[in-house]
Amino acid sequence: MRRCFKVEVQPTPTQLKALLQHSGNARWAYNWGLAQHQAAHAAWVEQGKPAKWDGWPNAIALHKDLNALKKRDPQDGGVPWMFEASKCAPQEALRDLDRAFKNFFQGRAKYPRFKSRSRGIGGFRLTGSIQVAQKTIQLPRIGRLRVKPGDHGYLPWGRHSAASVSEEAGRWFVGVVGPESDEAQIEGLPAVGLDLGVARLATLSDGTVIDNPKALAAGKRKLKRLQREVARKKKGSSRRRKARAKVAKAHARVANVRSDALHKATTMLAKSHGRIVIEDLRVKNMTAGGGRRKRGLNRVLLDASLREFRRQLEYKGKLYGCEVVAVAAHFTSQKCSVCGHTDRGNRPSQSVFRCLSCGHEANADLNAAINILEAGSCPDSQNACGVGVRRGGPRVTSQPAVKQESAGTG
Ligand SMILES: [Zn+2]
Repeated sequence: MRRCFKVEVQPTPTQLKALLQHSGNARWAYNWGLAQHQAAHAAWVEQGKPAKWDGWPNAIALHKDLNALKKRDPQDGGVPWMFEASKCAPQEALRDLDRAFKNFFQGRAKYPRFKSRSRGIGGFRLTGSIQVAQKTIQLPRIGRLRVKPGDHGYLPWGRHSAASVSEEAGRWFVGVVGPESDEAQIEGLPAVGLDLGVARLATLSDGTVIDNPKALAAGKRKLKRLQREVARKKKGSSRRRKARAKVAKAHARVANVRSDALHKATTMLAKSHGRIVIEDLRVKNMTAGGGRRKRGLNRVLLDASLREFRRQLEYKGKLYGCEVVAVAAHFTSQKCSVCGHTDRGNRPSQSVFRCLSCGHEANADLNAAINILEAGSCPDSQNACGVGVRRGGPRVTSQPAVKQESAGTG
């Protein structure tokens, strides 16, 4: 098993034009290939199904035909404009089509659909010499793409033989496949629910607790003390100026400690899980968290931490092939994770959960984490590159539904 690493890139206007052109060519080739499949199948049916349907025009045969089309006149059905972009994009699209049919015939996926421009620009794959540096990625026919600063240095450096490019809501991503790694290690990664908190950084549904670093509490105490000292000094005095400088330093120290703890936790979580479920912060704020969170400074710090925690989890999830899901988790702190009974009275104290219905007793954060995992466990995960089959997707065993849709050429 090889893991896909993905980063956001910032194309120049010229590069953007090339990206769109390649995506268009890939989509055109996929749709054209699908139409060829359907024509071949229809012809076989028309001949009275002479033998067992033994397959379809494969990617190699289709690519040969496509090359002939590229040399032909547009009025004669030719597509000479395809010469303007890399031949890899349509070639790889036809390989995708091969895989889509294989997945369909083996019951792992639905019958391939035409790719419509209105459903998204999509993307394409390139093969050849791909060069990754810290801040750039060099692609054939596209040039050197700038990697978004937040994603610097995350792609495996050096030469690669393939890259996939995709568009999502106006943003462009490039994925490369990393070195060979242990299959069991990635395939068997567990799903986990997270409850983020004040006293503890996070509680995992498997019972693991990630504590805040001790230095954080110490740093906060020192910060408060220094802030009080500033207030005691006379305005405009040099003593006050010096005290303020100390506050700034202590503040930076707290921020660094917090940032370091968040980075360590999110990296560990993303690397060791296949799926992470967290609470959707906005929803939680609207419901005011059932009064379990403190007001004031702690509240502000916590909200900032949660946002940052989620931001880090999401981009690291992309890098390590871990899916991050945010759920609108109502009443996760009041619901019993065993029997489902939801009651404010289930929480006799901040840290204890005791179900009034079934008597289940647990740490309140752990109970919430299990509820969060449950709220986010729908079988709709995709690998990081967005290619291949959806794991655990619908099983389809029916025969190919040959239906002629309009092959969008946009
Ligand atoms: Zn219960």
